Amino acid sequence: MVEISDIVQVVPIASEPDRVIWTANPTGKYTISSAYEALRVKTPTVQWARLVWGKGPSPHHSFICWLAILNRLAVKARIIRWGLCDDNICPCCGLSAETMEHLLFDCSFPSMVWNGVMRYAGVVRPPKPWRWELVWWCRKAGGKSQLAVLRRHIFCATIYYIWKERNDSVFGNQQVNVQRVINNIRESFFCYSSYFTNRNFVRLIDQWTV
Ligand SMILES: [Zn+2]
Repeated sequence: MVEISDIVQVVPIASEPDRVIWTANPTGKYTISSAYEALRVKTPTVQWARLVWGKGPSPHHSFICWLAILNRLAVKARIIRWGLCDDNICPCCGLSAETMEHLLFDCSFPSMVWNGVMRYAGVVRPPKPWRWELVWWCRKAGGKSQLAVLRRHIFCATIYYIWKERNDSVFGNQQVNVQRVINNIRESFFCYSSYFTNRNFVRLIDQWTV
């Protein structure tokens, strides 16, 4: 008991009254964000994080793009395994299995869409396979420059409207239309065009109006 008493004696006791503090926040105050950070499982940041979640894309475009990158879009090659459709044929071209890679880049329909919009992002080359393109766009559209923001918006909007057009074709029984998709991407972009003030990007934006 004497030893315990000696130890207790050296424990500093504040003159202020006791109070409750939230240790997950350096300020000691509870916030929802600090609780979220304390509870969430922390993993390394993925390479495509800024491409999808950075400034530029609309939230609903980002969400569909996120599902596409994780291969979670309900394309026929996936849902046929669940017994929810009778075939896995691409509804856009009718020639190949509808995989994620095929729907977003390999099929003639998305290939024509990408050909139509990539020049607005200052990209002058034909589209390549999905995984190759993902690495390229992560490298070229992940920064803070206006060009990177522009490219992020175009990348996510293009995936979103290709997916939407595909769904309208499957569930609305209408033919896919390349120009309609390009027009949708262009119109979604004008919501953000006031952000771009650099002369080079104004020139890129002007191309969308002709
Ligand atoms: Zn196809």
